[in-house]
Amino acid sequence: MNTQDFVNMEEQYGAHIYHPLDVVIERAEGVWVYDVDGKKYLDCLSAYSAVNQGHVHPEILKALLDQAKKVTLTSRAFRNDQLPLLYKELSEMTGYEMSLPMNSGAEAVEAAVKLARKWAYQVKKVPRHQAEIIVAGNNFHGRTVTVISFSTEPLYRDDFGPFTPGFVVVEYGNTDAIEKAITPNTAAVMLEPIQGEAGVIIPPAGYLKKVAEICRKNNVLLVTDEIQTGLARTGKLFAADHEDVRPDVVIVGKALSGGFYPVSAVLADKPILGLFTAGEHGSTFGGNPLAAAVARAALRVIREEKLAERSQQLGEYFLEQLSEISSPHVKEVRGKGLLIGVELKPEAMGARRFCEALQMKGILAKETHDNVIRFAPPLVIDKETIDWALPSIREVLNIK
Ligand SMILES: *Cc1c(COP(=O)(O)O)cnc(C)c1O
Repeated sequence: MNTQDFVNMEEQYGAHIYHPLDVVIERAEGVWVYDVDGKKYLDCLSAYSAVNQGHVHPEILKALLDQAKKVTLTSRAFRNDQLPLLYKELSEMTGYEMSLPMNSGAEAVEAAVKLARKWAYQVKKVPRHQAEIIVAGNNFHGRTVTVISFSTEPLYRDDFGPFTPGFVVVEYGNTDAIEKAITPNTAAVMLEPIQGEAGVIIPPAGYLKKVAEICRKNNVLLVTDEIQTGLARTGKLFAADHEDVRPDVVIVGKALSGGFYPVSAVLADKPILGLFTAGEHGSTFGGNPLAAAVARAALRVIREEKLAERSQQLGEYFLEQLSEISSPHVKEVRGKGLLIGVELKPEAMGARRFCEALQMKGILAKETHDNVIRFAPPLVIDKETIDWALPSIREVLNIK
């Protein structure tokens, strides 16, 4: 079967919920992926930052294989010998006293929403079922019904109501809007420190710090969704670290498994996460020994290979080089670490055709929100590889 055969089969039998580039990948290693026709590409998406450690990282692969031969799923009805070690290592690495493991990112967001509500009723004494959570416009937190209930993207919502109440949407980057939206019933403010899916939107300097102050002053939890920005992607362990902010609750996913397996988690200290009692939340696969072993290895790679520092240094270089490209189509180049967005002018007629042109040159990038090309390669990329990609990117940004 060639590329077209796979594409046709997928279109015939699968629900069309994505608009992928027509590249059919059959294997990958580090920053490189290979398609069924034997062509090699530089991956500049990293599965939306799930493979920060690079594709099929040998250490994580070994952890997966070793654990798969022993025991993969116990359910939380019984304990296993990997989960306690993941808890401890996550705590030592992030400074949060406890964590709650889930599978997908959206599930961890749901768990964080439940946690914030429980805290509001038990600790803040908000009248039951009145808790409000403040979120930002153009957010992306996942695809479940509750999570799309506070999305501002019509495509994610229009045909899918009725929605979960209890969310207040304010403008991203505007701290006055948050202050105004707070009521005695506000449980939490939940934000992405940088909005990845919205097009790598970086809020004004000092925004998160100010939000944290407002939250503290008003007895409101600050919850950050670091599913995409966390675990070294922006040049620090967490994007909130750039402003020395320590949120009350942090949500991680994606790179928590280095791309091998869905693993997510909610991090918080004991006075918050300790509020959950047996039966109030759960997941058959959440915290399973295979997931825990994979996550432990994924975290170890981030530490041992100093991926945050790498992302900081190479991100700075890549951003600077991209900024120097002269192109009639580019409106702005922005980024933190190796999370970079190239925003095109409206006259450029969309980022898609540029991504297709990049594909022809052996670079896989994906448009986000129509007019932004995101460059987010695995953090194990080196300067030589960036230098290899730049002439092609320069050429593509200058197509007619
Ligand atoms: C990807 C993502 C999610 C959802 O994660 P899934 O694993 O796809 O459910 C939530 N928040 C942010 C910021 C993300 O980038």
